[in-house]
Amino acid sequence: MANTLLLAGGGHAHRHLLLHRLLKHLPDDRVVLVAPERFVAYGPMLPGLLCGKYRFRECHIDLAHLCERAGVELLYGRIAGIDQAARRAWLDDGRELGFSVASLNTGARPITALPGAEEHALSLFPVQHFLPLWQQLREHLSERTRPLSLGIVGDSSLAIEMALAIQESVQNDRRSSIPVELHLITTGSDLPADTERALQLRVALTLYQQKVRIHTRFPIGTIESDRVLSEHQQLLRLDQVILLNASGGGAWLESSGLTADASGRLTVESTLQVKGCEKLFAVGDVALNPAAPPLSLANASLEQQSQRLAHNLNACLKGEALKSGPFKTARTWVDLGSEQALTHWGQWIFAGPWVRRAKERLARRTMARYPGY
Ligand SMILES: Cc1cc2nc3c(=O)[nH]c(=O)nc-3n(C[C@H](O)[C@H](O)[C@H](O)COP(=O)(O)OP(=O)(O)OC[C@H]3O[C@@H](n4cnc5c(N)ncnc54)[C@H](O)[C@@H]3O)c2cc1C
Repeated sequence: MANTLLLAGGGHAHRHLLLHRLLKHLPDDRVVLVAPERFVAYGPMLPGLLCGKYRFRECHIDLAHLCERAGVELLYGRIAGIDQAARRAWLDDGRELGFSVASLNTGARPITALPGAEEHALSLFPVQHFLPLWQQLREHLSERTRPLSLGIVGDSSLAIEMALAIQESVQNDRRSSIPVELHLITTGSDLPADTERALQLRVALTLYQQKVRIHTRFPIGTIESDRVLSEHQQLLRLDQVILLNASGGGAWLESSGLTADASGRLTVESTLQVKGCEKLFAVGDVALNPAAPPLSLANASLEQQSQRLAHNLNACLKGEALKSGPFKTARTWVDLGSEQALTHWGQWIFAGPWVRRAKERLARRTMARYPGY
């Protein structure tokens, strides 16, 4: 009997396995990708997009072309529920889809549980909603006559990249000469929290040079229209807050009976199967994978996971043995804005304009492989 493989979400791993045609299903099998939008952002190029270095199409992948070339059916929509025991999924418009095996790569969602966040803060996730809001903020800046203080909340490498990209963007914006004071607000004391000490020192120096004010150990309690209050009642006046912290999944995961951890991510085995679900896989920001290094900015780690996902989806469809075991730690690249980036090779850290050029070349080369680019 023919199988149906459901790929939910056009995240990094699903794009990678379609690009490299890693699925080896039988000709009669149906492969369906469900995604809400045609164009999805390529993460490593987002800081460049924010500071006007790239145009939209240069850093967005066309899922329609990708699916057509890979012989995969693209269904526009959003998964709203899954019954993994009955192997059925529902889309938000009520359509229903049966599957033999399903894989979730639906990314992160914003943390909106903070009091005042929904009313007063912008959230980076989902990125496609953030981009028009960022354009509006830039327009607002060009009309503004008073200085603006902007707070970025987050402590990952991604938050650092975003803070420095925003700084570069406002510094280079010729339409506005209004000073923008940038604040980076974190709950813990390590910055970025997801990298080694040596990288943290280099990042701290750059933040200092770029005049980004850092507020560590400032767990946000409430966001108001012109300020944030920490859980310890410290006050920081801010005109705009951007939340960069995200959790996995969405409410639909819990209502589907899939148990997420405190951060909202689904715990997966090293096979990438959701714990306790033989036919359901999850990868990327929706998953918590104890066998893999933290995701954040480690594309190479995502690629290893995509390879394993492809192997295991093929094996699961054919009833063969799945691959398991730990993933290797991957190289991190951090964009530091103002033509700088840093990376590490073992214990060695390299930083400078040539690192950024290398990072950009790598990203452009990756994008150029996608059909329709
Ligand atoms: C500024 C910035 C810089 C970054 N730099 C890097 C970098 O250098 N290297 C790196 O590896 N990563 C980087 N990233 C991270 C990267 O963009 C992703 O977070 C990472 O690739 C993992 O994402 P993902 O594959 O889980 O999902 P995503 O790439 O976020 O994609 C998830 C997709 O699923 C769709 N979706 C969501 N919900 C549903 C649903 N219910 N049904 C169907 N579809 C759904 C979404 O619309 C989205 O298209 C960066 C991110 C940002 C914001």
